[in-house]
Amino acid sequence: MLSIVSQLLPATCRYCSATCIKKGFYKGVQKYFCSTCNKYQRSKYQYRITSAQDDKNITLLNNEGMGISSIGRYLQIAKTTVRRRILLISQKLAAPVFSETNQVYEVDEMQTFIGRNHSVVRSVQ
Ligand SMILES: [Zn+2]
Repeated sequence: MLSIVSQLLPATCRYCSATCIKKGFYKGVQKYFCSTCNKYQRSKYQYRITSAQDDKNITLLNNEGMGISSIGRYLQIAKTTVRRRILLISQKLAAPVFSETNQVYEVDEMQTFIGRNHSVVRSVQ
């Protein structure tokens, strides 16, 4: 569930392959500066990536009735990420197509109303 992508950089620039110089730290990670292309890089990158498996787990847990905060705690994902992923997953869904027309159904009991909800008409055969 938790996937961290880390990449160790050598002292060469990954954009122009020139030699980089050390230029301080960012959150405990060595930063490098390329004087040729004026870009900063870090020796190590860490990203928390939500995978396709996370989307499947979010869908499964959401369908089971688990709340957004609970899904976030269970999958160790931020609840805003869970909410955003649910919205993205829901946008991929297509509306169901009802292709049945002119069908005949046999009903033995039916309860409906005419006009207002308190005037219930029952039909039992
Ligand atoms: Zn460079």
